[in-house]
Parts: sequence; structure tokens; C-alpha cells
Amino acid sequence: MEAHKDKLRSLLEKDSPFFREVQEECEKQIKQNTRCTSKLKRTGFPVVFQNTTLPFNPDAFLNTIKNSILTNLTRDFFKSKKGECPGCGDLCKKFERAHTIKERPAIAKEALDNVIMKNQDTGMFEMSEFLSEFIQLHRKFPIAFICSKCHLVLDNVLRKEKSRGPLSYEDLKKIDYTGAKPIEFVVWDPYGDETLETPKSMSQLRHLIFQGVATEHLRTNFSCLREVPGKFKKEKRFEFQGWYDNDEYDNEGAVLEFFICDSNNNQIMKDVLRAVFQEKFEHPEPYRTTLFQFDLRLKLRLANGEIIEINNKDVRHFKYKF
Ligand SMILES: [Zn+2]
Repeated sequence: MEAHKDKLRSLLEKDSPFFREVQEECEKQIKQNTRCTSKLKRTGFPVVFQNTTLPFNPDAFLNTIKNSILTNLTRDFFKSKKGECPGCGDLCKKFERAHTIKERPAIAKEALDNVIMKNQDTGMFEMSEFLSEFIQLHRKFPIAFICSKCHLVLDNVLRKEKSRGPLSYEDLKKIDYTGAKPIEFVVWDPYGDETLETPKSMSQLRHLIFQGVATEHLRTNFSCLREVPGKFKKEKRFEFQGWYDNDEYDNEGAVLEFFICDSNNNQIMKDVLRAVFQEKFEHPEPYRTTLFQFDLRLKLRLANGEIIEINNKDVRHFKYKF
């Protein structure tokens, strides 16, 4: 199954051989220009989007047509052959149409944006023009003909695995991290060297992130952490390197120990996200480069299989200034 999964996964990557194969097939069918001609060429069904008494609402327009009209058009336009499923190799009587790098609602939205752009002068477009644009976009965003088993894996497992890309602090705070695991941790220093140290647990992740926080902030800003043992029922001892600690810098470079309480993943991520994103942890004149003045990229796998990425690309206040 893993090999099949890899093959199916490559449907979501536009430079893979499988994707190109699927793309060529869609292109061939689009070029034939013989199917659904009445739907795609008919005139006399104008959609007015400018200067109308009722303002045109793109979402409402897409909502009314997405299921019936577009699903049927896709079904009638793209025809599959019988035979071996290209995903798993099983003989299959009935293939399903599976979207690849872009799904139907997103393709429909792009088609609508394109026809509105093209028809700015008249303020209206023919319904057939929109449908035609929707079909044409399948050259870029092809559909694959695969068996229902493969289709389920593609949509329910592999698509969810795809990273959503970096999320904002606000988005990240809303996620449920129960059962989450760190799967990638990369830090680039100003010279372009990278540190790769994937933490084995969420509590190790928090320790790593805390190492990028100046010691004076650690002492005062996080309730999960104490300098003396015994404050928490369940706690672990962690070592830190002191830096930017008080005005005298006595602890500069010293090995300091802190006791961190055992927390659930959501509490841990609250601490992690604060340390990465909150402006108060910035130092006005960094005399030592830290985790957060570098590029940080962290990936977590959530319990539902989704992979999320956290990076500090847009967290300007932490960036090291040369
Ligand atoms: Zn299959």
C-alpha cells in the first residue's frame, strides 16, 4: 500500500511523471473539442455582474452551480477508459474522477475570476463562456481516473497530509494540538547554516523553543517554569544556557537549570507560540543571535494526519539586523 500511496501522492505534485501523464490525457480530451458542445458554445444566457439592480454575488453564483451543473459537466466531458487503475493497478470496472492539485470549487472560482476580468467592458458574460473556461482550466488542474479505493485515499488521507503552509499566530492559536507530534525542526542562522534537530516529544519541543528566549524572560513570563524544584506535582528538570540575564550578565553562558511542569499539548503549544510570536520577547539590541532572529521552520503532524507549518518568516520584530 505504501508504494501505491507514494504514487497517488505524486498526483498532488505538478512535476511528477504521474501528474504529467494525467495532465496529458486531460489535455487530449479538451483539445478534441467535441463533447458537451451545446453547453460550452450556447449563447443567450448572459450573467450580468456590473451595473445591476441586484449586486452580483460571486459566492452565491458559484454555490448555485457548483454541485449540479459543474459536477455533471465534468462527468459528461471527461471520459475514462476501463482497465487497470493507474493508482493501484487493480482491474476496475468503474473509475472515478479525482481532482488533483486543485479541487472543483477552487477551479470554479478561478474560472469566474477569469471571465469577469475578460468582460470588464460589457459587465456580463455568457454562461457557456464560464463553463468553457472551467473546462479549459483542467489543462492546468487535471483530473485523474482512479478507482474508488484510491480516490478515498487521495482525498481523505493524502490531501490532508499536505501542509497548509505557514499559518498566522491567530490561526495557530485556534488549532487543537491533542495528539500532535513534531516532525521537522529547522533553524537557519545568519550564515545560512542549518540546524536540524527534530524533538522527540512536544515537551522537548518546548524546551528547544525556550532555549531561544532570553533567560530574564524565561524567569518572569512562563508559569510552567520555575527555578526551584517542587512547585509542580509533575515536573522535569531541563538545562539552559544563560544569556541576557539581568543587567550584569553574570550568567552569560552559564548552565542553568529550570523545572518545567508536565503539560498537555495544548498548554505546551500556547507557550511555544507565545515564545515564537510575541513581540515582548524581542531584545532591542541583540548581542547574541537567537533562534528567533534566524529562520525557524517547524512542522507538526496533527492527530487527524494534517501537517501544519509554523515559521517566523513574517515575525519581523525578531529578525537579526545586520
Ligand atoms: Zn486504484
